[in-house]
Amino acid sequence: MTDQARLSGIFLALAAVCGAQTHGIAVANMDPAVAPGDDFYGYANGRWIERTQIPPDRGRIGVFTALDDLSNKRTVGLIEELAKIKAVAGSDVARIAWLYNSYMDEPAIEAKGLAPLRPHLESIAAIRDKRELARALGESLRADVDALNNTNFHTANLFGLWVAPGFNDSEHYTAYLMQGGLQMPDREYYLDDSDRMRDIRARYQAHVSAMLKLAGFTDADARAARIVELERAIAEKHLSLAESEDIHKANNTWKQADFAAKAPGLDWAEYFRGAGLDKQASFIVWQPSAFAGESALVASTPLDTWKDWLAFHLIDAYAGVLPKALNDERFAFFGKLLQGTPEQRPRWQRGVALVNALLGDAVGQIYVQRYFPPAAKAEAQAMVANIIAAFRKRVEALAWMDPATKAEAQAKLNTLYVGVGYPETWRDYSAYEVTDDAFGNVWRGGLFDFHQAVARLGSAVDRKEWSMTPQTVNAVNLPLQNALNFPAAILQPPFFDAEAPAAANYGAIGTVIGHEISHTFDTEGSAFDSKGRVRNWWTAADLEHFNAATARLAAQYDTYKPFPDISVNGRQTLAENIADVAGIAAAFDGYHASLAGRTAPVQDGFSGDQQFFIAFGQNWGSKAREAALRQQVLTDPHAPGRFRAYTVRNIDAWYTVFKVQSGEKLYLAPADRVRIW
Ligand SMILES: [Zn+2]
Repeated sequence: MTDQARLSGIFLALAAVCGAQTHGIAVANMDPAVAPGDDFYGYANGRWIERTQIPPDRGRIGVFTALDDLSNKRTVGLIEELAKIKAVAGSDVARIAWLYNSYMDEPAIEAKGLAPLRPHLESIAAIRDKRELARALGESLRADVDALNNTNFHTANLFGLWVAPGFNDSEHYTAYLMQGGLQMPDREYYLDDSDRMRDIRARYQAHVSAMLKLAGFTDADARAARIVELERAIAEKHLSLAESEDIHKANNTWKQADFAAKAPGLDWAEYFRGAGLDKQASFIVWQPSAFAGESALVASTPLDTWKDWLAFHLIDAYAGVLPKALNDERFAFFGKLLQGTPEQRPRWQRGVALVNALLGDAVGQIYVQRYFPPAAKAEAQAMVANIIAAFRKRVEALAWMDPATKAEAQAKLNTLYVGVGYPETWRDYSAYEVTDDAFGNVWRGGLFDFHQAVARLGSAVDRKEWSMTPQTVNAVNLPLQNALNFPAAILQPPFFDAEAPAAANYGAIGTVIGHEISHTFDTEGSAFDSKGRVRNWWTAADLEHFNAATARLAAQYDTYKPFPDISVNGRQTLAENIADVAGIAAAFDGYHASLAGRTAPVQDGFSGDQQFFIAFGQNWGSKAREAALRQQVLTDPHAPGRFRAYTVRNIDAWYTVFKVQSGEKLYLAPADRVRIW
């Protein structure tokens, strides 16, 4: 699971990015008037929150966004340099330059108008029956979901494909299929009965109609009403996010021949033919009931409604490379209304995001040569080693865990692959054709990705393969590979600064490293063994203890209310919250080990231990617009930053270090603190 850049942040980065010569915790961001025991988040970030405005093109701001900006600026600098070189046609440099330039050439996009869409809309219009519909639905399948690595459960296509090591055969790449079909982010947007959601639905229908009109459809209002009704019916069949996160419910192997019986309605043979998967013998079906429900809807809903649904989904998905009127209409709904963001990001930033999405490794290879010195890699690797060693000791010392379970936990640590900075091998883009046609480039990019994923099915797994590019400000645990990735772009100030005191580095990036290691043992990691297989390696008694402890943690987060009418979902965020608790504990131990008996230097009157916790609290300093925060609470496996900072109340050392007393708001009696590792 990723640490998800979009959710979190600190201001410290802004100071660093702007060239301020500070290293370590950002004392100027703290609010000394707040008692750490009452509101540790406000104590660590209060002044920053007071003086920070969310830029008009953002739904939120924090350290991740500041580092994203830095990484984007560096990346666009590289791309612009590459764009000037007369690169050999067909080289990666030429691909990068063409892709970026075609996206930035708005006059060309405007001049083409709807022409790039037309052949696709014509093939949808030509669909004569449900058999041809099934084929078209199959043709729209993409490798655009990812259940465990980048945790993306959403696709607007009817279903989504994820190719990853198998639950039951982790040595080979396997096909996972996941529910889809909704344009809005989650089923709640279609089913929740609150006034706010009802209003969003009405405005969504207006958006669907507006997009159809812009694409030249007649009778757009009536079509939009039918499309939204179909999506509502699909939403009813969907599992919730919390249910989808439970891998034990997801491990359902269906042979291709089973689909017709288990999920009747859709012509599955034709669907798989359309997807080019007719030779694939079996799949893991993540949400069987949703597959049955959605397939039945293909049979029961009129053909014309499905054709309109296909057309609208196509138009909406490609709005970014279509004329401005369509792009603006899409942003007005998904950006302004759903995220509360007044302005869209500058086009160059969206262009960089596109290049990163479609040619990420090609850019990354150049990025690390320039921005990731070998010394940074060596130092980060030393921190990782200290924190893994700390984890090892914590596991050994657990009183409740059976020796056999401990042995398997240690085996997982022994075989854990930790990638630091960048991958050992790079992706081959030679089959991806890039021209001066922006729409075609994006279309072919999605297909290239899909074909590359499909081509790997059945082949041997490369455990050292990365699932993030080096220029991504994030970190990830890959449970099926028993591997972690820490990209170069997160290994920089304020997360990681070679000139900062160790306390700040361990409190900032160290807790992130500990967090990712802990995913190896959390609700999901506990289901995968040292080879990445789904195997229960816990004794019943161990699992009972683990479940009891984690249920208490879920209950703790259920009490947090970002707004009076909405609570954090303790179950939906459980794996991430466990990782935060464990991450702090292991990083704190790793920090002490790194001191090797020396006394830590004091910074601005703060002891090393204080700096450690403050740096952790500052990881989560962030500001979000109300709409964006509400969307996060509904759709994200991570709790909002404020509550992630409150994780410290489960750590005994935090009470000693800040002299937190009973009666203070975050105080928990020792018996109520959740200890997992
Ligand atoms: Zn995580």
